[in-house]
Amino acid sequence: MKRIITFFASIIFFINCNAQNSTKNKPDMNKNNPYYSNSDTNKVVVKNEEWQKILSPEVYDIARQKGTESPWTSKYEKFKEIGTYYCAVCGNPLFKSNTKFESGCGWPSFYEPISKSSIIYLPDNSHGMKRTEVECGRCKSHLGHVFDDGPPPTGLRYCINGVVLDFKKAQEAENNYNKKH
Ligand SMILES: [Zn+2]
Repeated sequence: MKRIITFFASIIFFINCNAQNSTKNKPDMNKNNPYYSNSDTNKVVVKNEEWQKILSPEVYDIARQKGTESPWTSKYEKFKEIGTYYCAVCGNPLFKSNTKFESGCGWPSFYEPISKSSIIYLPDNSHGMKRTEVECGRCKSHLGHVFDDGPPPTGLRYCINGVVLDFKKAQEAENNYNKKH
């Protein structure tokens, strides 16, 4: 009898283990990037040398070297799917698709971030211009700039490099939200 109980207990343990393993493969995880999460709000502080090993050269150049993608090259520039845009470096939720608009500037544009923790603002006086740089609020990766010529209700235009955006359709985004709450 004892043997049978042990047998069943080990089966249950095995099933539980498998269940835990399957949640490890949840959609907000990125296999090659241990810092990527759509739900973890802890700040990510990682040296560029390490980011360089983790990120693709395109993402690294823009996110960590403050590069700019060529205008009109992002697949998200005229993209109209409903969902959420995350930081491609750390997975921090940045913008909802319902705050996206066609600015005609050549880069994906939004008028409002998801929350205060989405974005960090920094003065940028490079290239002889006075601009405000926007960085990811979680991992401090360069995203783009914000200008005050956007539409209502904010009047702001967040001009973002599509390379550093990671889009997820509404269904996936909702699942991640439910996991978080
Ligand atoms: Zn980030």
